[in-house]
Amino acid sequence: MAKDNILKGGEFLVKETQPGDVFIPEEFTEEQVMIAQTCSDFLESYVYPNLDRIDSQEEGLMKHLLQKSGELGLLGISVPAEYEGFDQSFVTSMLASEYMGAGYSFSVAYSAHTGIGSLPIVYYGNDYQKQKYLPSLATGALTSAYCLTEPNAGSDANSGKTRAVLSDDGKHYILNGQKMWITNGGFADIMTVFAKIDNDRVLSAFIVERAFPGIVFNPEEKKMGIKGSSTVQIFFNDCKVPVENLLGKRGEGFRIALSILHMGRIKLGGTVLGAAKRAITQSVNYANERRQFGKQIAEFGAIKHKLAEQVIKTWVTESSVYRVAQCIDDTIEQLREQGLSKGKASIEGIADYAIEAAFLKVFGSEALNYIVDEAVQIFGGMGFSSETPVDRAYRDSRINRIFEGTNEINRMLVVDTTIKKALKEGFDVSRYSKSILKGLEEIRTEIPEGYYNEKRHYIRNFKKATLLLLGEISETFQRNLTSEQEVLFNISDMIMQVYASESALLRLEKQESTRSADAVAIYRDMVDVFVYDAADIIHKCGKDAINSFAEDQEYHQKLMGYIVDLSAVKPVNVKEARRRIANLLIEENGYKF
Ligand SMILES: Cc1cc2nc3c(=O)[nH]c(=O)nc-3n(C[C@H](O)[C@H](O)[C@H](O)COP(=O)(O)OP(=O)(O)OC[C@H]3O[C@@H](n4cnc5c(N)ncnc54)[C@H](O)[C@@H]3O)c2cc1C
Repeated sequence: MAKDNILKGGEFLVKETQPGDVFIPEEFTEEQVMIAQTCSDFLESYVYPNLDRIDSQEEGLMKHLLQKSGELGLLGISVPAEYEGFDQSFVTSMLASEYMGAGYSFSVAYSAHTGIGSLPIVYYGNDYQKQKYLPSLATGALTSAYCLTEPNAGSDANSGKTRAVLSDDGKHYILNGQKMWITNGGFADIMTVFAKIDNDRVLSAFIVERAFPGIVFNPEEKKMGIKGSSTVQIFFNDCKVPVENLLGKRGEGFRIALSILHMGRIKLGGTVLGAAKRAITQSVNYANERRQFGKQIAEFGAIKHKLAEQVIKTWVTESSVYRVAQCIDDTIEQLREQGLSKGKASIEGIADYAIEAAFLKVFGSEALNYIVDEAVQIFGGMGFSSETPVDRAYRDSRINRIFEGTNEINRMLVVDTTIKKALKEGFDVSRYSKSILKGLEEIRTEIPEGYYNEKRHYIRNFKKATLLLLGEISETFQRNLTSEQEVLFNISDMIMQVYASESALLRLEKQESTRSADAVAIYRDMVDVFVYDAADIIHKCGKDAINSFAEDQEYHQKLMGYIVDLSAVKPVNVKEARRRIANLLIEENGYKF
């Protein structure tokens, strides 16, 4: 039976969650841990010994590695059992993404194949298409790619010019156009290609085999990072695609593209965790070895600060990512009980969390950027050398802010989708903000006694601050809101901080219900530092937003007063809290949180 109190997408802003209702990474089953271990073993045996060969794009190597991971069952995790897959939960597939995420370029090829490459057929394929392609995609006999972007259609993905025209005999679509930046494009056997049929205004999707006539592959792009990942331009010149390879219905392509992107974004939040934990372990290993001024550099407060921040960002991202992954599983189960097929339930289940998908992509990719940047810094001059492992981690991290929708596009989506969803659910954000301004909504400024009461009070207030400004900007800008991108970014950052703070607190509280206070003391430190910093971000973003739209002095002052009150937190000795976190990392000489 599906849970009856599932927190639906975006609802975290208006509802409170009990710790018993969230999934935390400490609850993985033995089977899930085994799958994670298989991923780690795979990277140790086949990827890490071959990193330079992978990055030089040695002919056939990446495809061979994908096939090898397929032999271990790692390509079929999300493929239904009747098509030789393992039909695992979303949480399990997230865990596999996390562990594979430590695999540099291999991780990109793996994610593209198992995610955007295979899932269009898993979710939208008809029986014939699934039967024909999925068993081979699940084993790695066939590899896959996703072709949406074009030279003049990047963020504006629906503006592509690739066209499909039905042949005179009605047996084929004739495809003409150009796709760009296609991951796995250098070797993929199967591609989901998005194109417009005739003069349609919306895209359709096609399953295109590499062997179809009329396809030209450009040489590999030369890239800043993920050098081992294949990225090419592809030209379709009168390419004949059998009509039975139309995926979904005519005109359904943009919907397919978007729903696959929601999934890709949310998974990216998981993928960065693997890369982050590896970079942290490398950072602390080095900090424990390197001596300056007669000491290990790990003994310096400046280095401890960096190590602790790396850990906090990772732990909080992890708390958020698995919380939403379980909500998605619960929603899928609920939809199945209502009679939807697994594929349809998965599409709708994931789409319901489009807001979380967008901000976890942003939050995770920016956390990883920070972590690898500080990893280079901890290595000092050696961090700038290509001889050390953090050089690759630093370069490979950067793409995460660009693909799966740039972080700018995703930040705007967060706010846009929140407003639309609120309207759909009958929650009037403007009326809510007015009720705050008229004093009808209770605003508590005194901080309650008790650790959890105090932290819950802060998060409740962060939500109110966010909803207050969300309502006011909707009312002020109305239809012009989309042009106020700077303000949208402020609100989007506030939303992220709310979700991340709450997820971290719920994880701590759930753990504390089964473990001693001593055992979870380090997690209290993480929550303390994170929430304390989140309050500042909420304050700063709120202030910037208000200064950008509240012209009337009295109104400005009133809003500013609320933001100050709603982001007020007690002082925390963040220096000592960070030192305790860093000391544990230093003692364990690796990420084991
Ligand atoms: C290594 C790599 C692998 C990739 N793999 C794939 C793949 O497998 N399949 C695929 O289809 N695509 C893939 N992509 C494409 C990727 O998804 C796009 O690069 C990305 O969506 C951005 O599009 P763009 O490069 O055209 O940038 P643009 O859209 O030109 O954006 C340039 C800048 O302008 C900003 N911007 C654009 N529009 C707006 C707006 N409305 N408001 C505010 N700012 C805006 C962007 O955020 C960005 O900062 C890949 C790209 C790379 C680099």
